[in-house]
Amino acid sequence: MGISMQKKKLGLYIHIPFCHSKCAYCDFYSQSNAGDELMQRYVDALRLQLEDYSAATRNYTVDTVFIGGGTPTVLPVKTMCELIGTITRCYNLSKDVEFTMEANPATVSLAALTKYRKLGVNRLSLGLQSANADELTALSRIHSTSDFEASFTAARKAGFDNINIDIMYGIPLQTAESFSNTLNYAASFDPEHISVYGLKIEDGTPFARMRETLILPDEDTEADMYLDCVSYLSVCGFRHYEISNFARPGCECRHNLKYWNCDEYLGFGCAAHSYFSNMRFSTKRDLMLFIDAMEADISRGGIMGNDGMGITESQLKNAQPIDEFYQLTPSERVGEYIMLRLRLCDGISSSEFESRFGINFDAVYGRRLQIYIDNGFMKYDGDRYAFTTKGMYVSNYILSTILDFDKDSRIVGGIADGSDKA
Ligand code: SF4
Repeated sequence: MGISMQKKKLGLYIHIPFCHSKCAYCDFYSQSNAGDELMQRYVDALRLQLEDYSAATRNYTVDTVFIGGGTPTVLPVKTMCELIGTITRCYNLSKDVEFTMEANPATVSLAALTKYRKLGVNRLSLGLQSANADELTALSRIHSTSDFEASFTAARKAGFDNINIDIMYGIPLQTAESFSNTLNYAASFDPEHISVYGLKIEDGTPFARMRETLILPDEDTEADMYLDCVSYLSVCGFRHYEISNFARPGCECRHNLKYWNCDEYLGFGCAAHSYFSNMRFSTKRDLMLFIDAMEADISRGGIMGNDGMGITESQLKNAQPIDEFYQLTPSERVGEYIMLRLRLCDGISSSEFESRFGINFDAVYGRRLQIYIDNGFMKYDGDRYAFTTKGMYVSNYILSTILDFDKDSRIVGGIADGSDKA
Protein backbone atom coordinates (compact mmCIF):
# COMPACT_ATOMS: atom_id res chain seq x y z
CA MET A 1 0.00 0.00 0.00
CA GLY A 2 1.44 3.42 -0.97
CA ILE A 3 1.95 6.06 1.69
CA SER A 4 0.00 9.19 0.88
CA MET A 5 1.67 12.39 2.05
CA GLN A 6 -0.64 15.10 3.33
CA LYS A 7 -0.04 18.21 1.21
CA LYS A 8 0.58 21.50 2.97
CA LYS A 9 -2.04 24.23 2.63
CA LEU A 10 -1.35 27.52 0.90
CA GLY A 11 -3.22 30.78 0.25
CA LEU A 12 -2.72 32.96 -2.84
CA TYR A 13 -3.16 36.74 -2.84
CA ILE A 14 -3.24 38.53 -6.20
CA HIS A 15 -2.93 42.32 -6.18
CA ILE A 16 -4.73 44.38 -8.82
CA PRO A 17 -3.30 47.92 -8.56
CA PHE A 18 -6.03 49.78 -10.43
CA CYS A 19 -9.01 51.81 -9.29
CA HIS A 20 -11.54 53.95 -11.09
CA SER A 21 -10.32 56.90 -9.01
CA LYS A 22 -8.47 57.23 -5.71
CA CYS A 23 -10.45 57.54 -2.48
CA ALA A 24 -9.13 60.37 -0.31
CA TYR A 25 -8.27 58.13 2.67
CA CYS A 26 -6.64 55.23 0.84
CA ASP A 27 -2.97 54.31 0.90
CA PHE A 28 -3.30 50.95 -0.84
CA TYR A 29 -1.06 50.80 -3.88
CA SER A 30 -3.28 51.52 -6.88
CA GLN A 31 -3.45 53.77 -9.91
CA SER A 32 -6.55 55.49 -11.20
CA ASN A 33 -7.72 55.76 -14.80
CA ALA A 34 -5.43 53.13 -16.31
CA GLY A 35 -6.38 52.11 -19.85
CA ASP A 36 -7.31 48.57 -20.89
CA GLU A 37 -3.93 48.13 -22.58
CA LEU A 38 -1.93 48.77 -19.38
CA MET A 39 -4.26 46.53 -17.38
CA GLN A 40 -3.79 43.73 -19.92
CA ARG A 41 0.01 44.11 -19.78
CA TYR A 42 -0.07 43.97 -16.01
CA VAL A 43 -2.25 40.86 -15.95
CA ASP A 44 -0.03 39.19 -18.55
CA ALA A 45 2.94 39.90 -16.24
CA LEU A 46 0.99 38.54 -13.28
CA ARG A 47 0.24 35.37 -15.21
CA LEU A 48 3.95 34.87 -15.88
CA GLN A 49 4.67 35.27 -12.19
CA LEU A 50 1.88 32.86 -11.26
CA GLU A 51 3.27 30.29 -13.70
CA ASP A 52 6.81 30.68 -12.35
CA TYR A 53 5.92 30.19 -8.71
CA SER A 54 3.65 27.25 -9.39
CA ALA A 55 6.70 24.96 -9.59
CA ALA A 56 7.58 25.81 -5.99
CA THR A 57 4.10 24.88 -4.81
CA ARG A 58 3.61 21.47 -6.40
CA ASN A 59 3.49 19.91 -2.94
CA TYR A 60 0.89 22.33 -1.68
CA THR A 61 -2.88 22.44 -1.95
CA VAL A 62 -4.24 25.93 -2.42
CA ASP A 63 -7.28 26.28 -0.19
CA THR A 64 -7.77 30.05 -0.45
CA VAL A 65 -7.38 32.57 -3.26
CA PHE A 66 -7.94 36.30 -2.77
CA ILE A 67 -7.95 38.75 -5.69
CA GLY A 68 -7.70 42.14 -4.02
CA GLY A 69 -6.44 45.60 -4.70
CA GLY A 70 -7.10 48.24 -5.75
CA THR A 71 -10.34 47.33 -7.41
CA PRO A 72 -10.11 43.99 -9.23
CA THR A 73 -13.49 44.56 -10.88
CA VAL A 74 -12.16 47.47 -12.97
CA LEU A 75 -10.30 44.92 -15.11
CA PRO A 76 -11.93 44.14 -18.47
CA VAL A 77 -13.92 40.92 -18.11
CA LYS A 78 -11.81 39.05 -20.67
CA THR A 79 -8.59 40.05 -18.85
CA MET A 80 -9.98 38.94 -15.48
CA CYS A 81 -11.14 35.61 -16.97
CA GLU A 82 -7.61 34.99 -18.31
CA LEU A 83 -6.20 35.67 -14.85
CA ILE A 84 -8.63 33.29 -13.14
CA GLY A 85 -7.87 30.69 -15.83
CA THR A 86 -4.13 30.86 -15.08
CA ILE A 87 -4.73 30.47 -11.34
CA THR A 88 -6.95 27.43 -11.77
CA ARG A 89 -4.62 25.87 -14.38
CA CYS A 90 -1.32 26.35 -12.52
CA TYR A 91 -2.26 25.56 -8.91
CA ASN A 92 -3.77 22.56 -7.13
CA LEU A 93 -6.93 24.19 -5.85
CA SER A 94 -8.71 22.19 -3.19
CA LYS A 95 -12.29 21.12 -3.89
CA ASP A 96 -13.56 23.44 -1.17
CA VAL A 97 -11.28 26.37 -2.07
CA GLU A 98 -12.45 29.76 -0.82
CA PHE A 99 -11.98 32.06 -3.83
CA THR A 100 -12.61 35.73 -3.04
CA MET A 101 -12.75 38.75 -5.30
CA GLU A 102 -12.98 42.31 -4.01
CA ALA A 103 -15.40 44.61 -5.79
CA ASN A 104 -16.40 48.23 -5.72
CA PRO A 105 -20.19 48.48 -6.10
CA ALA A 106 -19.94 50.87 -9.05
CA THR A 107 -17.85 48.46 -11.08
CA VAL A 108 -19.81 45.21 -11.27
CA SER A 109 -22.40 43.82 -13.68
CA LEU A 110 -24.54 40.71 -13.51
CA ALA A 111 -22.93 39.36 -16.70
CA ALA A 112 -19.38 39.73 -15.32
CA LEU A 113 -20.25 38.30 -11.91
CA THR A 114 -21.98 35.32 -13.52
CA LYS A 115 -18.85 34.58 -15.55
CA TYR A 116 -16.55 34.86 -12.53
CA ARG A 117 -18.83 32.65 -10.46
CA LYS A 118 -18.81 30.00 -13.20
CA LEU A 119 -15.01 30.12 -13.32
CA GLY A 120 -14.80 29.29 -9.62
CA VAL A 121 -14.89 32.59 -7.71
CA ASN A 122 -17.22 31.85 -4.81
CA ARG A 123 -16.86 34.75 -2.37
CA LEU A 124 -17.36 38.45 -3.07
CA SER A 125 -16.20 41.31 -0.89
CA LEU A 126 -18.14 44.52 -1.56
CA GLY A 127 -16.94 47.87 -0.26
CA LEU A 128 -19.96 49.81 0.97
CA GLN A 129 -18.15 51.84 3.68
CA SER A 130 -21.20 53.98 4.49
CA ALA A 131 -24.90 54.13 3.69
CA ASN A 132 -24.92 57.91 4.03
CA ALA A 133 -24.57 59.92 0.80
CA ASP A 134 -22.65 62.82 2.40
CA GLU A 135 -20.19 60.46 4.04
CA LEU A 136 -19.63 58.60 0.77
CA THR A 137 -18.88 61.94 -0.91
CA ALA A 138 -16.51 62.92 1.91
CA LEU A 139 -14.64 59.64 1.39
CA SER A 140 -14.68 60.30 -2.40
CA ARG A 141 -16.26 56.93 -3.02
CA ILE A 142 -17.57 56.62 -6.57
CA HIS A 143 -20.71 54.65 -5.73
CA SER A 144 -24.11 55.39 -4.24
CA THR A 145 -26.27 53.17 -2.05
CA SER A 146 -28.36 52.30 -5.13
CA ASP A 147 -25.18 51.07 -6.85
CA PHE A 148 -24.55 48.95 -3.78
CA GLU A 149 -28.07 47.53 -3.81
CA ALA A 150 -27.80 46.72 -7.51
CA SER A 151 -24.41 45.02 -7.08
CA PHE A 152 -25.48 42.99 -4.04
CA THR A 153 -28.63 41.82 -5.84
CA ALA A 154 -26.60 40.98 -8.96
CA ALA A 155 -24.11 39.00 -6.86
CA ARG A 156 -26.85 36.90 -5.29
CA LYS A 157 -28.41 36.36 -8.73
CA ALA A 158 -25.04 35.28 -10.12
CA GLY A 159 -24.92 32.58 -7.43
CA PHE A 160 -22.70 34.14 -4.74
CA ASP A 161 -23.82 32.70 -1.41
CA ASN A 162 -20.81 34.05 0.49
CA ILE A 163 -20.65 37.85 0.45
CA ASN A 164 -18.74 40.25 2.67
CA ILE A 165 -19.67 43.90 3.15
CA ASP A 166 -16.96 46.35 4.27
CA ILE A 167 -18.01 49.34 6.34
CA MET A 168 -16.06 52.04 8.17
CA TYR A 169 -16.43 54.04 11.35
CA GLY A 170 -14.71 57.22 12.48
CA ILE A 171 -15.16 58.84 9.06
CA PRO A 172 -15.81 62.52 8.31
CA LEU A 173 -19.33 63.78 9.07
CA GLN A 174 -20.30 60.47 10.71
CA THR A 175 -22.41 60.48 13.87
CA ALA A 176 -23.35 57.64 16.20
CA GLU A 177 -26.75 57.66 14.56
CA SER A 178 -25.54 57.62 10.96
CA PHE A 179 -23.12 54.78 11.78
CA SER A 180 -25.92 52.81 13.36
CA ASN A 181 -27.99 53.38 10.18
CA THR A 182 -25.11 52.08 8.07
CA LEU A 183 -24.82 48.95 10.23
CA ASN A 184 -28.55 48.41 10.03
CA TYR A 185 -28.51 48.91 6.29
CA ALA A 186 -25.64 46.43 5.78
CA ALA A 187 -27.24 43.79 8.02
CA SER A 188 -30.57 44.16 6.16
CA PHE A 189 -28.96 42.50 3.11
CA ASP A 190 -28.29 39.41 5.21
CA PRO A 191 -24.65 39.00 4.10
CA GLU A 192 -22.52 36.12 5.36
CA HIS A 193 -19.75 38.42 6.60
CA ILE A 194 -19.25 42.04 7.65
CA SER A 195 -15.89 43.78 8.15
CA VAL A 196 -15.89 47.01 10.14
CA TYR A 197 -12.72 49.09 9.98
CA GLY A 198 -11.89 52.28 11.83
CA LEU A 199 -10.57 55.05 9.59
CA LYS A 200 -6.84 55.60 9.95
CA ILE A 201 -5.41 58.79 8.52
CA GLU A 202 -2.43 57.48 6.57
CA ASP A 203 0.54 59.66 5.69
CA GLY A 204 0.71 60.72 2.07
CA THR A 205 -3.06 60.56 1.48
CA PRO A 206 -5.29 63.59 0.72
CA PHE A 207 -6.88 63.04 4.16
CA ALA A 208 -3.49 63.49 5.81
CA ARG A 209 -3.10 66.85 4.05
CA MET A 210 -6.64 67.88 5.07
CA ARG A 211 -6.29 66.57 8.62
CA GLU A 212 -6.96 69.93 10.29
CA THR A 213 -10.17 70.57 8.38
CA LEU A 214 -11.76 67.10 8.51
CA ILE A 215 -14.88 66.93 10.68
CA LEU A 216 -14.31 63.63 12.48
CA PRO A 217 -16.22 62.00 15.34
CA ASP A 218 -14.41 62.53 18.66
CA GLU A 219 -12.52 59.68 20.30
CA ASP A 220 -15.26 58.73 22.76
CA THR A 221 -17.91 58.62 20.04
CA GLU A 222 -15.62 56.49 17.92
CA ALA A 223 -15.01 54.04 20.77
CA ASP A 224 -18.77 53.83 21.39
CA MET A 225 -19.34 53.14 17.68
CA TYR A 226 -17.03 50.14 17.89
CA LEU A 227 -18.56 48.78 21.09
CA ASP A 228 -22.13 49.32 19.84
CA CYS A 229 -21.28 47.64 16.55
CA VAL A 230 -19.98 44.52 18.33
CA SER A 231 -23.22 44.23 20.37
CA TYR A 232 -25.50 44.98 17.45
CA LEU A 233 -23.92 42.49 15.06
CA SER A 234 -23.92 39.77 17.69
CA VAL A 235 -27.68 40.33 18.21
CA CYS A 236 -28.02 39.97 14.41
CA GLY A 237 -26.36 36.53 14.60
CA PHE A 238 -22.83 37.40 13.47
CA ARG A 239 -19.94 35.89 15.39
CA HIS A 240 -17.26 38.41 16.27
CA TYR A 241 -14.13 36.42 15.47
CA GLU A 242 -11.47 39.05 14.87
CA ILE A 243 -11.08 42.69 15.95
CA SER A 244 -12.75 44.00 12.78
CA ASN A 245 -14.54 40.94 11.44
CA PHE A 246 -17.94 39.34 11.98
CA ALA A 247 -19.34 36.25 10.28
CA ARG A 248 -22.26 33.91 10.19
CA PRO A 249 -21.07 30.65 11.80
CA GLY A 250 -18.79 28.84 9.35
CA CYS A 251 -18.40 31.88 7.06
CA GLU A 252 -15.24 33.33 8.63
CA CYS A 253 -12.82 34.49 5.91
CA ARG A 254 -10.42 31.55 5.65
CA HIS A 255 -7.91 33.56 3.65
CA ASN A 256 -7.57 36.35 6.22
CA LEU A 257 -7.43 33.72 8.98
CA LYS A 258 -4.18 32.55 7.40
CA TYR A 259 -2.64 35.96 8.15
CA TRP A 260 -3.70 35.85 11.79
CA ASN A 261 -2.75 32.20 12.26
CA CYS A 262 0.72 32.70 10.69
CA ASP A 263 -0.06 30.19 7.92
CA GLU A 264 1.63 30.28 4.54
CA TYR A 265 0.49 32.45 1.63
CA LEU A 266 2.05 33.77 -1.56
CA GLY A 267 1.34 37.27 -2.87
CA PHE A 268 1.49 38.10 -6.58
CA GLY A 269 1.83 41.42 -8.38
CA CYS A 270 3.28 44.72 -7.23
CA ALA A 271 2.97 45.63 -3.53
CA ALA A 272 1.99 42.07 -2.58
CA HIS A 273 3.28 40.40 0.58
CA SER A 274 4.11 36.73 1.13
CA TYR A 275 4.86 34.43 4.02
CA PHE A 276 6.30 31.27 2.57
CA SER A 277 9.08 28.81 3.40
CA ASN A 278 9.54 30.63 6.69
CA MET A 279 10.35 33.89 4.89
CA ARG A 280 8.43 37.10 4.66
CA PHE A 281 8.89 38.98 1.40
CA SER A 282 7.16 41.66 -0.59
CA THR A 283 7.14 43.01 -4.12
CA LYS A 284 8.01 46.64 -4.85
CA ARG A 285 5.18 49.19 -4.96
CA ASP A 286 5.93 49.97 -8.59
CA LEU A 287 3.61 48.83 -11.33
CA MET A 288 5.92 49.52 -14.29
CA LEU A 289 8.91 47.97 -12.56
CA PHE A 290 6.89 44.83 -12.04
CA ILE A 291 5.71 44.68 -15.65
CA ASP A 292 9.20 45.43 -17.04
CA ALA A 293 10.83 42.80 -14.82
CA MET A 294 8.39 40.10 -15.82
CA GLU A 295 8.46 41.04 -19.52
CA ALA A 296 12.26 41.12 -19.53
CA ASP A 297 12.37 37.71 -17.94
CA ILE A 298 14.91 38.85 -15.36
CA SER A 299 13.04 37.66 -12.33
CA ARG A 300 12.18 34.23 -13.52
CA GLY A 301 15.13 31.87 -13.44
CA GLY A 302 15.47 31.95 -9.66
CA ILE A 303 12.06 30.58 -8.90
CA MET A 304 11.53 28.11 -11.74
CA GLY A 305 12.90 24.59 -11.78
CA ASN A 306 12.10 24.26 -8.13
CA ASP A 307 11.53 20.95 -6.34
CA GLY A 308 8.01 21.87 -5.27
CA MET A 309 8.95 22.08 -1.59
CA GLY A 310 9.11 25.86 -1.30
CA ILE A 311 11.60 28.62 -2.05
CA THR A 312 15.12 29.21 -0.77
CA GLU A 313 16.65 32.54 0.23
CA SER A 314 19.10 32.44 -2.67
CA GLN A 315 16.30 31.83 -5.16
CA LEU A 316 14.47 34.86 -3.84
CA LYS A 317 17.58 37.03 -4.12
CA ASN A 318 17.45 36.60 -7.88
CA ALA A 319 13.77 37.41 -8.18
CA GLN A 320 13.89 41.04 -9.29
CA PRO A 321 10.57 42.68 -8.38
CA ILE A 322 11.15 41.48 -4.81
CA ASP A 323 11.49 44.41 -2.42
CA GLU A 324 12.29 43.10 1.04
CA PHE A 325 12.77 39.57 2.18
CA TYR A 326 13.91 38.07 5.41
CA GLN A 327 14.08 34.80 7.20
CA LEU A 328 12.30 35.22 10.50
CA THR A 329 14.33 34.64 13.64
CA PRO A 330 12.75 32.41 16.31
CA SER A 331 12.02 35.48 18.45
CA GLU A 332 10.36 37.27 15.52
CA ARG A 333 8.18 34.24 14.87
CA VAL A 334 7.01 34.26 18.47
CA GLY A 335 6.37 38.03 18.40
CA GLU A 336 4.39 37.83 15.18
CA TYR A 337 2.33 34.92 16.42
CA ILE A 338 1.36 36.79 19.59
CA MET A 339 0.57 39.98 17.73
CA LEU A 340 -1.51 38.28 15.05
CA ARG A 341 -3.23 35.59 17.12
CA LEU A 342 -4.39 38.07 19.73
CA ARG A 343 -6.39 39.83 17.01
CA LEU A 344 -8.63 36.77 17.04
CA CYS A 345 -11.40 36.62 19.62
CA ASP A 346 -10.22 33.08 20.49
CA GLY A 347 -6.85 34.54 21.48
CA ILE A 348 -3.89 32.38 22.43
CA SER A 349 -3.99 29.00 24.10
CA SER A 350 -0.98 28.59 26.43
CA SER A 351 -0.82 24.84 25.74
CA GLU A 352 -0.89 25.32 21.94
CA PHE A 353 1.73 28.05 22.29
CA GLU A 354 3.99 25.76 24.29
CA SER A 355 3.73 22.91 21.81
CA ARG A 356 4.41 25.29 18.91
CA PHE A 357 7.33 27.25 20.38
CA GLY A 358 8.44 25.27 23.44
CA ILE A 359 7.90 28.39 25.55
CA ASN A 360 5.73 28.64 28.63
CA PHE A 361 3.36 31.49 27.70
CA ASP A 362 2.08 31.94 31.25
CA ALA A 363 5.55 32.36 32.65
CA VAL A 364 6.86 34.75 29.99
CA TYR A 365 3.82 36.80 28.94
CA GLY A 366 1.07 35.92 31.43
CA ARG A 367 2.57 38.19 34.09
CA ARG A 368 2.69 41.13 31.68
CA LEU A 369 -0.97 40.56 30.77
CA GLN A 370 -2.25 40.29 34.34
CA ILE A 371 -2.81 44.03 34.72
CA TYR A 372 -5.04 44.01 31.63
CA ILE A 373 -6.97 41.00 32.93
CA ASP A 374 -7.48 42.75 36.27
CA ASN A 375 -8.82 45.82 34.50
CA GLY A 376 -11.20 44.03 32.15
CA PHE A 377 -9.23 44.48 28.92
CA MET A 378 -8.31 40.81 28.67
CA LYS A 379 -9.73 37.51 29.84
CA TYR A 380 -8.09 34.25 30.84
CA ASP A 381 -9.92 30.93 31.22
CA GLY A 382 -7.07 28.85 32.63
CA ASP A 383 -5.59 28.19 29.18
CA ARG A 384 -6.59 30.95 26.76
CA TYR A 385 -5.71 34.62 26.87
CA ALA A 386 -7.90 36.87 24.75
CA PHE A 387 -8.92 40.49 24.51
CA THR A 388 -12.36 41.50 25.75
CA THR A 389 -14.32 43.79 23.43
CA LYS A 390 -13.09 46.93 25.18
CA GLY A 391 -9.55 45.50 25.08
CA MET A 392 -9.82 44.93 21.33
CA TYR A 393 -10.45 48.60 20.78
CA VAL A 394 -7.10 49.46 22.41
CA SER A 395 -5.29 46.27 21.42
CA ASN A 396 -2.49 48.05 19.55
CA TYR A 397 -1.54 49.92 22.68
CA ILE A 398 -1.65 46.79 24.85
CA LEU A 399 0.41 44.80 22.34
CA SER A 400 3.01 47.56 22.27
CA THR A 401 3.45 47.17 26.02
CA ILE A 402 3.97 43.40 25.95
CA LEU A 403 6.03 43.11 22.77
CA ASP A 404 9.08 44.88 21.53
CA PHE A 405 7.77 45.62 18.02
CA ASP A 406 11.21 46.37 16.55
CA LYS A 407 12.73 43.22 17.92
CA ASP A 408 9.88 40.74 17.96
CA SER A 409 8.08 41.54 14.77
CA ARG A 410 8.52 43.00 11.33
CA ILE A 411 4.85 42.75 10.43
CA VAL A 412 3.71 45.69 8.36
CA GLY A 413 0.31 47.34 8.22
CA GLY A 414 -2.30 45.84 5.94
CA ILE A 415 -1.11 42.31 6.54
CA ALA A 416 -1.90 42.47 10.18
CA ASP A 417 -5.42 43.75 9.83
CA GLY A 418 -6.28 41.86 6.66
CA SER A 419 -8.15 44.93 5.55
CA ASP A 420 -9.80 44.95 2.19
CA LYS A 421 -11.38 48.19 1.20
CA ALA A 422 -12.12 48.19 -2.55
S1 SF4 B 1 -10.32 52.39 -1.03
FE1 SF4 B 1 -10.47 50.77 -2.55
S2 SF4 B 1 -11.51 51.77 -4.30
FE2 SF4 B 1 -10.77 53.42 -3.01
S3 SF4 B 1 -8.76 53.94 -3.86
FE3 SF4 B 1 -8.41 52.45 -2.21
S4 SF4 B 1 -8.35 50.47 -3.19
FE4 SF4 B 1 -9.29 51.94 -4.64
